[in-house]
Amino acid sequence: MPSPILLVTSLEPAEEAAWRAALVEAMPGETLLGATESGHVESGAAPSAEIAIVANPPPGALAGLPALRWVHSLWAGVDRLVLDETLPPVPVVRLVDPALAGAMAEAVAAAVLHLHRDLPRYAEQQRQGLWRQHAVRPARERHVTLLGMGEMGSAAAKLLQAIGFTVQGWSRSGTARDGVPVLSGPESWARALACTDILVNLLPLTVETRGLLDREAFARLPRGAALVNYGRGAHVVEGDLIEALDAGVLSHAILDVFETEPLPRGHRLWSHPGVTILPHVAAPTTLASAAAIVAATVRAFRETGRVPAGIDRARGY
Ligand code: NAP
Repeated sequence: MPSPILLVTSLEPAEEAAWRAALVEAMPGETLLGATESGHVESGAAPSAEIAIVANPPPGALAGLPALRWVHSLWAGVDRLVLDETLPPVPVVRLVDPALAGAMAEAVAAAVLHLHRDLPRYAEQQRQGLWRQHAVRPARERHVTLLGMGEMGSAAAKLLQAIGFTVQGWSRSGTARDGVPVLSGPESWARALACTDILVNLLPLTVETRGLLDREAFARLPRGAALVNYGRGAHVVEGDLIEALDAGVLSHAILDVFETEPLPRGHRLWSHPGVTILPHVAAPTTLASAAAIVAATVRAFRETGRVPAGIDRARGY
């Protein structure tokens, strides 16, 4: 009889129940234990659990589990998880799902095309009842920079290239993927920004990337460049963003992620004319495909006894 698996989340009960059902269906031989709202495991069998499946677990929820060997996140981004100092020093596996990368590529293409074809400007003209045409630039003359060339960034780069945009990436290592040039590290930061019309953020949130998109970064972009933030809200210094939009340094920002989510009522970003707000929908996790991926990892562990490789917790992603 395999040891039970813990499912620990801070999701609404209905959402957690849907995850539980999808996971039970994908792993029929496994016992899945839940946790109470306070994050304390509700069953006496929990001390023998070797695996925890988590989605934003409440801080401390995984502390003091003597048999825990590894943790699987149901999300691709694990920033909140790795910041929890009570998390035991076990491997953390994040969700890597081609369906998620495909959805993100779609969302990036939608945003870039929206900006490329001046749709925010035409929306404003419509509000004013103004019939005015603006020149259309060919996609190849539009330079798009993707910050982060991992699962999300490389899928997005491929699609943007297929549409015809001139694409470059920026990452820690500078590893080129699918023929997309990739700059790397702080030394090429200014160079990457200087030739960017549309900047798309797909970085993980780490100590190094928090607050990266600030006044100084915006000033390095050509005047009137646009920003798409699909990474995390804390990558952007909100006050600096608003200042850059007000001053025309940036022409528009499409924002899907925020420091506080949901974005509070009355927050000034809601009504800023230079901002498009999305409620964290760029690439939602798909229940069935994510559950199948988690189940395959669990199955491999049960068959081999080998703990799967996790993220680099010191690096933060
Ligand atoms: P990933 O595969 O781990 O890729 C991360 C990329 O960022 C890599 O290219 C990495 O460089 C680069 N990077 C990390 N730290 C860096 C630094 N300090 N300087 C420069 N580059 C750095 O992650 P992913 O699966 O693509 O996901 C990225 C993020 O997208 C997630 O962490 C999450 O925050 C966000 N996300 C958002 C949504 C949404 O709906 N809005 C959905 C899913 C994910 P190397 O290639 O050199 O390692």
